[in-house]
Amino acid sequence: MKIVIKFGGTSVGNTERIENVARIIKENSTENQLIIVTSALGETTDYLIEIIEKAPKGDNCDEILVNLEKYHNETIENSIKNDHVKNDVKERTQKMFDALKKSVEGIITLKQATPKSNDQILSYGERLAAPILAAKLEDMGLNSIALTGGDAGIITDDKFGEATPLIKLTKHRLQNNLDSKIEKGIIPVITGFIGKTQEEEITTIGRGGSDYTATLLGACLNVDEIWIMTDVDGLLSADPRILENTKVITNLSYEEATEMAVMGAKSMHPRALEPAKEANIPVRIKNSFNKKSDGTLINDTVIVNEKEIAKAVTRINGIAMINVTGMNMAGNPGIAGQIFSILGRNEINIIMISQSISESNITFLINKSKLTKALSVLEIGLLNKEIVKEIKFEDEVSVVSIVGAGMKGTHGVASRLFNAISKKEINIKMIAQGSSELNLSFVVNESDSIEAIKSLHDEFIKK
Ligand code: ADP
Ligand code: ASP
Ligand code: MG
Repeated sequence: MKIVIKFGGTSVGNTERIENVARIIKENSTENQLIIVTSALGETTDYLIEIIEKAPKGDNCDEILVNLEKYHNETIENSIKNDHVKNDVKERTQKMFDALKKSVEGIITLKQATPKSNDQILSYGERLAAPILAAKLEDMGLNSIALTGGDAGIITDDKFGEATPLIKLTKHRLQNNLDSKIEKGIIPVITGFIGKTQEEEITTIGRGGSDYTATLLGACLNVDEIWIMTDVDGLLSADPRILENTKVITNLSYEEATEMAVMGAKSMHPRALEPAKEANIPVRIKNSFNKKSDGTLINDTVIVNEKEIAKAVTRINGIAMINVTGMNMAGNPGIAGQIFSILGRNEINIIMISQSISESNITFLINKSKLTKALSVLEIGLLNKEIVKEIKFEDEVSVVSIVGAGMKGTHGVASRLFNAISKKEINIKMIAQGSSELNLSFVVNESDSIEAIKSLHDEFIKK
């Protein structure tokens, strides 16, 4: 088989783990052609985010940089035995840290950053990781090459921070650059999360983007399967950091898994499953640390078990709810359109919408980081129109959802959900169901969200 295998940050988080990953690759390389995608080591991306937040304020970032450098150097020192291979990767790493430090210094001095310079900085996590993993494979006697997503052929638009791959061009370039290498038995280790524009500027594709890189590579290179290796046994019925008694979901359709990703499960990029779905390539989510678990298989088959109306309970935090009211809004066409076009023009994404039947108010959710901007552009754009009276917001809220194809056309799901929630005396602030009927979502105070998840898991997920 031809397989893309992607390893998440925790899977490559230290020497032992890199060793484990290299073993998995070696074992699978004897009978398969492999393309490897790696995330940044451990929590490197989180630290790089700290840098892009601090540096434009002129704050010193030396401590973070020193720690990151130490972390990567120690990992190389302990992982790679062959001196030639080790020195080579050490040198590459040093060059990257020198360049990173220079960029950060520039931002601190000028007190100025741009989406482009932010992507430059964020890209270092994966750019440092791929050569280390490729060196480890070389060290174990495999033939491997490290490539950045852009150099492998992933070309994106220039929406820095959330770039979209240009599929046709990317497919052509990936096949040109990689097919012959793969045929020769060379294992490419490609950075997840990043691509480049046609002008050769580095872009990132959004948090959790390495999963998306993996499926994109899989679809463009016509592979048989895509494996997403992580630190849990597959997609689970709820976040294991919240609940202890979660279940591994053995089978999911692309649509169900996408719904879970969008609704916050496994910090997966919301578009991660798109390329796999279009090319109809099975995706397996597996545990790097537990060979025995079969993981989750995601494909085009919808399996609905009568007792499994919902397969997962998910939560999104870090959102804000905005409520626009005004008596004259009723029967006044175009208000919703105005609200959403104002937000769209300002690149503020709307996560969920609901409107009361009286039409006198519209409530919607956005990312909390965009709240201040949203309130100011809405105020400027709407309040002087005498139709909208008030714009209110709440920023300590969560969206809780149940997800599963079994809800489609099944009666009584909503009443079971609301009964379970009301028994816990939790107040629901907003409700929405997508027309796909694959999820039923509602908004509660963030402080009530864990209790809400527990009660829905008890109600819907069979032990
Ligand atoms: P990786 O580094 O492998 O990409 P992520 O941190 O992005 O891993 O995602 C894996 C983590 O997501 C798990 O360790 C788990 O704690 C969390 N998680 C939250 N919800 C779910 C879920 N429904 N199923 C599986 N994992 C989940
Ligand atoms: N390193 C990036 C992140 O932490 C991409 C990824 O791991 O998927 O979001
Ligand atoms: Mg991830």
